[in-house]
Amino acid sequence: MNLDCLVGSPSPILTPPRSRRAEIMASHISNDKRFLIFFDFDETIVDETSDDMVVQAAPGQHLPGWLKDTYQPGRYNEYMQRVLAYLAEQGVTESDMRNVMEKMPATPGMLTLLQYLRTRPQTDFEVVLLSDANTFFIESWLRRAGARQLFHRIFSNPATFNKDGRLVMRPFHSHDCPRCPDNMCKQVVVRDYVARRAQERGRPYQRVFYVGDGANDFCPALSLGPRDVAFPRREFPMHRLITETHEAMPGEFKAVTVPWANAEDVVQRLRKHVVE
Ligand SMILES: [Mg+2]
Ligand SMILES: [Zn+2]
Repeated sequence: MNLDCLVGSPSPILTPPRSRRAEIMASHISNDKRFLIFFDFDETIVDETSDDMVVQAAPGQHLPGWLKDTYQPGRYNEYMQRVLAYLAEQGVTESDMRNVMEKMPATPGMLTLLQYLRTRPQTDFEVVLLSDANTFFIESWLRRAGARQLFHRIFSNPATFNKDGRLVMRPFHSHDCPRCPDNMCKQVVVRDYVARRAQERGRPYQRVFYVGDGANDFCPALSLGPRDVAFPRREFPMHRLITETHEAMPGEFKAVTVPWANAEDVVQRLRKHVVE
């Protein structure tokens, strides 16, 4: 299912001075949209974890034990950089990795949800992707799915190929949130983005939506207000953390919670809001 015709040149990658952030922007974003919707990528848009899938490009489709043994808790981003270096040493190319990424299946109903967003009036949804994977994996999949142009912004760890053909990934930013891995706190990104856009627009969004699955999607969802809607994938860590928080600290988690097993459940809910 191809979602758009991919005309025009690729979006520019903007790297502001003295900033390591990878914020990939659509060429223009209008200020008249009513709703803001955030998406996670791994196990939310695609039904896999891209960092695990890339191992299929390795010789024998697995990583050697000595390399896996270098993983240290809380240092996942550095570990993944070593994995990418290993793949390059083994002769794995850009197109090998892209082929693996392009084969990842979408989660159930997700293509319907993306298609729904794409066919809404221009004034409805500003769509942002926020992921701790990397820009190369994400863009590879989105372009193949024809969904790249739906996303107005992509926030992820910047990844580009160096002259030796190695995919070099860097941390997205640094922060001091104790809940999140060193290289990315999605709540910091969500708060900064919502505040900046509200200023640019001169008004807040009617509602903010967040579709995710992981523990690192719980942190940003905590910053949502009572008019906003969190869409945690049912029985995944984000959903469990929301449920536990409701029990342990009533009132702490403010957003309306709508769990989904099929992303068509998200479409059903959005249909209610667009007629408001
Ligand atoms: Mg995820
Ligand atoms: Zn955090």
